[in-house]
Amino acid sequence: MLFKSDIKLLVVHCSDTPNNNNIDASYIHNMHLGFGWDGIGYHKVILRSGKVENGRPEYWIGAHVKGKNQTSLGVCLIGRNKFTKKQFISLEKILKKWKKSYPGAIIIGHCDDNNTKKTCPNFNVIKWSKNLKL
Ligand SMILES: [Zn+2]
Repeated sequence: MLFKSDIKLLVVHCSDTPNNNNIDASYIHNMHLGFGWDGIGYHKVILRSGKVENGRPEYWIGAHVKGKNQTSLGVCLIGRNKFTKKQFISLEKILKKWKKSYPGAIIIGHCDDNNTKKTCPNFNVIKWSKNLKL
């Protein structure tokens, strides 16, 4: 169980699938089930169209950032390194909402966590979110 006060990090991910693959949350759900997890590890998924799909509810601990799942929420952009304008608009909306709900939390990209060698989500989330004053 995640409590509001637990959440210190809002972590942005990508699905690391080819940019032209229009997969959705149910695809990721099945993929993560295949890893032996309790289904999709993210809390939100943003499709190439900009549509937002729900993953785990926000009170449920995610599976997306090693060692910090107890203190974070995760959102995943479908794609690898080129995201659509609509995806960025949706990402901004989600993070704005989360910042309101979890005012103490900071926004990072998965790669900004020092516990991973991944480059996910392949853009500078900190710089992007600062530019938008998130
Ligand atoms: Zn990631």
